[in-house]
Amino acid sequence: MGAYADFHRRSITDRDAFWTEEARRIDWHRPFDRVLDYSNPPFAKWFVGGQTNLCHNAIDRHLATRGEQPALVYISTETNTEKSYTYRELHTEVNRFAAIIAAQGVGRGDRVLLYMPMIPEAAFAMLACARLGAVHSVVFGGFASASCATRIDDARPKLLITADAGLRGGRAIHYKPLVDEAIRLAKYPPQKVLVVNRGIDKDFKPVPGRDLDYAELARQHATAQVPVTWLESSEPSYILYTSGTTGKPKGVQRDTGGYAVALASSMEHIYCGKPGETMFTTSDVGWVVGHSYIVYGPLIQGMTTILYEGLPTRPDAGIWWKIVADHKATVMFSSPTAIRVLKKQDPAYMAKYDLSSLRHLFLAGEPLDEPTHRWIHDALKVPVIDHYWQTETGWPILSLAPGIEPARVKYGSPGFPVYGYDLRLLRGPDGAEATDQEKGVLAIAPPLPPGCMTTVWGDDERFVKTYFSDFPGKLLYSTFDWGVRDQEGYTFILGRTDDVINVAGHRIGTREIEEAIQAHSNIAEVAVVGVADPLKGQMPLAFAVVKDASKIDTDASRAQQEKEIMAVVDSQLGAIARPSRVLFVTLLPKTRSGKLLRRSLQALAEGRDPGDLTTIEDPAALEQIRGALKS
Ligand code: ATP
Ligand code: MG
Repeated sequence: MGAYADFHRRSITDRDAFWTEEARRIDWHRPFDRVLDYSNPPFAKWFVGGQTNLCHNAIDRHLATRGEQPALVYISTETNTEKSYTYRELHTEVNRFAAIIAAQGVGRGDRVLLYMPMIPEAAFAMLACARLGAVHSVVFGGFASASCATRIDDARPKLLITADAGLRGGRAIHYKPLVDEAIRLAKYPPQKVLVVNRGIDKDFKPVPGRDLDYAELARQHATAQVPVTWLESSEPSYILYTSGTTGKPKGVQRDTGGYAVALASSMEHIYCGKPGETMFTTSDVGWVVGHSYIVYGPLIQGMTTILYEGLPTRPDAGIWWKIVADHKATVMFSSPTAIRVLKKQDPAYMAKYDLSSLRHLFLAGEPLDEPTHRWIHDALKVPVIDHYWQTETGWPILSLAPGIEPARVKYGSPGFPVYGYDLRLLRGPDGAEATDQEKGVLAIAPPLPPGCMTTVWGDDERFVKTYFSDFPGKLLYSTFDWGVRDQEGYTFILGRTDDVINVAGHRIGTREIEEAIQAHSNIAEVAVVGVADPLKGQMPLAFAVVKDASKIDTDASRAQQEKEIMAVVDSQLGAIARPSRVLFVTLLPKTRSGKLLRRSLQALAEGRDPGDLTTIEDPAALEQIRGALKS
């Protein structure tokens, strides 16, 4: 048995000893009495009785040994700024921030909603909340007012923290008017709004008596010191809403101690980031990846973390590689969407930089197609590790763990069940386990490991109903993702359970069809959805973005290309999976986190209402889809 398989097995069969060891990676103000309280399934309480604090573990405990080391490096290609904060400076900033919000009456258990661009103050605010034991809820900056308002009403924050504006590709997005509107729409608006005025919005107008100016308060609290509030391990650290790709967002609630331990341990075993090194995660603080691996994870590990504000292609497609080279990043974390964007650019941009510091590139968030995986792997010449997780889990479910055993990457697979996860692959609702090579729904036998959501904010019943009711008679957490395992134990994700379509009695994952179509050399991106069909039940329909548009510029060449794509599907999956049509567009509808809005695509294809689109990246994509469907 391999070293990793052993490690994983121990995490399940010798759970208490395993996690006691991992828990030593963080500081405890008071040691825990019990590793796990699972007396009320599926609610798990990790490290019962222990007291700790995320901010202490991310900052204070490093001061003695690495006070002068950069903790946070802010790089903005939007404002052309680069600013580095040592651990000591970060400590000062966060204390100041904590004093400012404490003066507004924010304390233990109070919610604070953040609607922030990628600026250092976003991280300061999160860490300041953690210091005070307040529960932050970061809402992706730039979300529509209505999305922000529903999250306000769910979390009922005492304070909202925002900035005058965010920037994207040189274009300003004025946040304050969006916040004003959200507060107008909300039933439970916060009393105060703390604004970091960047001076971008020239028409910025504070609401008297409600809006507070950060710069002014920062002067008042310049040298403030705020003691850490020690929390019981299972007290909430934050709420974060899921992307909403498949419906109404759920308020994922995270604990404190379990989360800190999970992150600390993943930094070691999965990401292989060493104290003093640099981690570059290209996500946004509005997403779970930003929480875990821009802010808390790397700081808990004593690393330097990079907070990047800007696009991957501005000033040119070499910018991320320049950052890696300049800061000698050893760990990089990005998304398949971003890599596909870069893949369309000239590869010469990558060759320009010395990327030899990099040990691994991790990707997550959506399926990583094999051609993209190969491309980036060949270009970087370091292991590119696809790993799979959810907002709900806070850290990976499936991954390779190069810290335990060198990575043997298999294209198209996010690897093995991560330690702590008792992962099952279930054939059907009866809960029967799938054998190797048989498709099934990925489920986790509870208790969920440390770091995972502890409940849905304010709604324990919804937690159980949503996640633990997929397999009647069995208490199992459903990921709502569909997968298959090969003989070596590598798991492949086939798509979301609601993306599995039924073609004349055959169950086919739309992801599998997409993967097949990606093999065609002229395909940049593709989305496949199932459309109701009177004869066959459902039929796959493909929307494709081509690399070279000159190959589809006449009706004849377009038809030829469509035929070729269908032939690829026939040869890889069989004619049963062949799309009824391949429609060409130049843009696919995605969420701002880069996830395909399949549900909306399918609705449009069936002539229905596309649903809640407040999280869409570019509404123009919908017009294209409508146009293509008319043809
Ligand atoms: P909602 O749950 O509100 O519909 P969402 O599922 O898109 O939104 P996230 O938690 O951000 O919200 O995304 C998790 C999902 O993303 C997973 O369940 C899976 O479908 C997909 N995913 C994440 N990583 C991978 C990966 N490496 N390969 C394939 N799919 C992935
Ligand atoms: Mg989800």
